[in-house]
Amino acid sequence: MDAVTVVPHQAGTARLEDIAEPDPALGSVLVEALAVGVCGTDVEIAEGLYGWAPPGRERLVLGHESIGRVVDPGLSGLSVGDLVVGIVRRPDPGPCPNCAVGEWDMCSNGGYTERGIKEIDGFMSERWRIEPEYAVPVDSALGSLGVLLEPTTVVAKAWEQILAIGPRTFWDPERVLVAGAGPIGLLAALIGVQRGFDVHVLDRATSGPKPDLVAGLGATYHSSSFAELPLRPDIVIECTGVPALILQSLMQTAPGGVICLTGVGAPATLPDVWNQSLATHLVLNNLVVFGSVNANRRHYYRAAKALARAEHAWLEGLITSRVAPDEFQRALDRGPDDIKVVVQFE
Ligand code: BGC
Repeated sequence: MDAVTVVPHQAGTARLEDIAEPDPALGSVLVEALAVGVCGTDVEIAEGLYGWAPPGRERLVLGHESIGRVVDPGLSGLSVGDLVVGIVRRPDPGPCPNCAVGEWDMCSNGGYTERGIKEIDGFMSERWRIEPEYAVPVDSALGSLGVLLEPTTVVAKAWEQILAIGPRTFWDPERVLVAGAGPIGLLAALIGVQRGFDVHVLDRATSGPKPDLVAGLGATYHSSSFAELPLRPDIVIECTGVPALILQSLMQTAPGGVICLTGVGAPATLPDVWNQSLATHLVLNNLVVFGSVNANRRHYYRAAKALARAEHAWLEGLITSRVAPDEFQRALDRGPDDIKVVVQFE
């Protein structure tokens, strides 16, 4: 069967190749792929900056944003034809205390594994297998838009954490700033609007689909610089991973605010002024800055609810290109107006 594979930590090694049918050891449920989304993590793996092959193997099957149709339900209660999404992370086999209670997204010893990223084959193959307890059923009404479930889980977790941290004191947040209008930023804005916040999205794009998608949510789009923003948000969801932008967002946040970092980026040298004033600013403004990664089963449940409440036409607008498996490179070389590019298997 066709699969997109890569040698982690070797740039330019991604290729479409014929590989063996999925190993039954990966789970009793056999799924045929409908679509696989591509994100910055996949790009980093293809560029040789991230990722780990399964033990004893050179190549890793790429892809962690899945949607597929059940071909053989195996030992699950699923039926042939059901749509499912695969949970990405597997707990540390040890396990650490967090993994032991099902919070593998908070793994405390780094012993977790991840489909398509860390030591387990991903979903960018014609067929894949999964353990019943890691196959999340998706409403058939969502169809292949279910490929947006995994990125939505990442922001569902981020929101859950923000709303757990904020009430450490009297807190009545109104304004949310999302930095970066990629898929994660737009899905974070979607959940913010669904929760009734006044949501603002900042991105450098002045044309293309992003401004309209933000307006379509009833949120406000800004392409100005941080310093020119006419607001002081109570909540910031930082989705760019750009250090200078992160620091600017910290300086812009209202006292008592919560800043959630979801983006990762290349190391950068920052002006000394940040080192000098940042700690003082955080202290004097009672700010909380925290990072959030991955998602556990509870976040898949919350994300599915968020997608079910969203307009399908709006979700469809996030998918700016669908490419065939042999055009996977086009998905990795995203254009400036691309939001989510998916590799379409069917
Ligand atoms: C995935 C997460 C994963 C993270 C780090 C992200 O792109 O969506 O599930 O935990 O990368 O590997």
